[in-house]
Amino acid sequence: MKKHNFSAGPCILPQEVLKKAAEAIENFNGINLSLIEISHRSKEFIEVMETARGLVKELLNLPEGYSVLFLQGGASLEFLMTAYNLMKVNGKAGYMDTGAWSAKAIKEAKGFGDVDIFASSKESVYNHIPKKYTVPTDVDYIHITSNNTIYGTQFKEFPKTNSLLVCDMSSDIFSRQLDFSKFDLVYAGAQKNMGPAGTTLVIVKDEILGKTGRNIPAMLDYQTHIKAESMFNTPPVFPVYVSMLTLQWLKDLGGVAAIEKLNEEKAAILYKEIDKNPLFNGFAKKEDRSTMNVTFTLANDDHKEAFDKIWNAAGVSGIKGHRSVGGYRASIYNAMPKESIQVLVNAMQQLEKEI
Ligand SMILES: *Cc1c(COP(=O)(O)O)cnc(C)c1O
Repeated sequence: MKKHNFSAGPCILPQEVLKKAAEAIENFNGINLSLIEISHRSKEFIEVMETARGLVKELLNLPEGYSVLFLQGGASLEFLMTAYNLMKVNGKAGYMDTGAWSAKAIKEAKGFGDVDIFASSKESVYNHIPKKYTVPTDVDYIHITSNNTIYGTQFKEFPKTNSLLVCDMSSDIFSRQLDFSKFDLVYAGAQKNMGPAGTTLVIVKDEILGKTGRNIPAMLDYQTHIKAESMFNTPPVFPVYVSMLTLQWLKDLGGVAAIEKLNEEKAAILYKEIDKNPLFNGFAKKEDRSTMNVTFTLANDDHKEAFDKIWNAAGVSGIKGHRSVGGYRASIYNAMPKESIQVLVNAMQQLEKEI
């Protein structure tokens, strides 16, 4: 039997997507060639790329004037590409420090200019999203991380700014409806809610580019990839294809509105147990709780062995918390079925009975 996969990333994908992906490795669309042994310039693959980009636009309801790119280098390369492409020479950017990924983005941006960290929750181990802050106005852009994968916090409201708004949505893109006209650049590594590791989705408003006065190397310049329609060099064909399949799965399910409702229901089942069961404590502040990554700890660490035994026996996998938080983290991305969450809740209730 398949395990209940709560891994934080790479993570669970829909079973039917895995099946179709496996088929395409052997014989893609009945052409008697593998998806990964045909030219990326073939009409078959160009259709995959076009379909994937079209689905992103459709599912996120993107306004006109935005480009959709499938790049490589992970969200980690976007930490520096965003700064390279948006921070002016002798420029400045505003960053919110809401977790380890934000901190890494800040570190990279510092290589390009001044960074104003205008809000941080570092002192409380990032257990909440800062609420009281003044958004700087003398900056080229503002950068935030919409969902903090490690700590299980999520922006419910985004900062208002007249500057450009850049967002790392690696772990919650396609999980909820958002007004993308409020964002100027969004990036997300595929491996948390969209596909396998190996491609990064970038959504960028065309008119914001080319204004820094910097000489940007071709591969790091968004304009290069826009002009080449994500085919400047060989794209990661397999991750793009599997992402396309996942997006089709999401569309068939009813799109982002439908998955948002499901995600809220799924998260509520788990948070309810965390709040009710005296043996567990939630880590993130209630008002900032993520619908994607649910973090919790044992009230008494002496129960660790007993609990670990119970969930392991139930076929649960991947709930060990990140080392900086400890405890447990259940990642319940789009493809996670409600039934698996119930299995975890049953394990928590089983512990309560045994203690
Ligand atoms: C996982 C993650 C990253 C890092 O992504 P890579 O693709 O491994 O570079 C960045 N930001 C967030 C929010 C993440 O969850």
